[in-house]
Amino acid sequence: MCRHLVYLGPPVTLREVLFDPPYSLLRQSWAPRDMRGGGTINADGFGVGWYPGDGPPVRYRRAQPIWSDPTIADLAAVTSTTAVLAAVRSATVGMAVIDGAAAPFTEGRWLFSHNGVVRGWPDSMVPLAAELPVRDLLTLDATTDSALLWALVRHRLRAGVAPEQAVAETVTRVAAAAPGSRLNLLLTDGHTAVATTVGHALSLRTTPASVLLASEPHDDEPGWREVPDGQLVRATATTVRQRALAGPCTTGT
Ligand code: GLN
Repeated sequence: MCRHLVYLGPPVTLREVLFDPPYSLLRQSWAPRDMRGGGTINADGFGVGWYPGDGPPVRYRRAQPIWSDPTIADLAAVTSTTAVLAAVRSATVGMAVIDGAAAPFTEGRWLFSHNGVVRGWPDSMVPLAAELPVRDLLTLDATTDSALLWALVRHRLRAGVAPEQAVAETVTRVAAAAPGSRLNLLLTDGHTAVATTVGHALSLRTTPASVLLASEPHDDEPGWREVPDGQLVRATATTVRQRALAGPCTTGT
């Protein structure tokens, strides 16, 4: 399962995004409301990335339940940001539970998260992994499907491919190589966010000045819109575009 979110908009504290809402990411770590894809709680790690200024993001991640970390709640209360990407993790069976396996993955201005599973791991990914520089494979954050997905997206970003295309291409190719995979990705540079829905839920809420994309609504207030399966969303704080993903990007099992 895993739950993730990205917020872009006027400054908010991390606490307002992660802890205060009635069905916040904190609560989703022990009582998620949408459990499709198996798993019951998201206690195998968490991570938060935010932008303290114009520079690169700061990332904090741990291989423990978010509720058991003594630092993050204090940090969240005093940290304001205009952009945050955060995730709580339910490790896929057999995959490592270490700090490096928790999203967000990052390089430069980028923050990345994956909610889902690559079917047939790792064999199904051998042909795609072979397209990456060996160095990238030797320096994966973790031997998990999500870390490899990040390496595939990052490889395209480094080559100057637009974020939307880097994500779409990666999802399409992985879905073709590993049918039935669940590939809800999130990518942001602090100004723009790109998200996909392949096999997991994603909801969207906008105000005139902000956008929030989240695996599940964090309250019962009006304004949430569920993004259908098989979509690619590109959002800034004030704009949202959505289109269907090409290829065999259908709901997994
Ligand atoms: N398969 C990924 C991992 O193990 C993501 C897990 C998830 O979405 N539950 O980290």
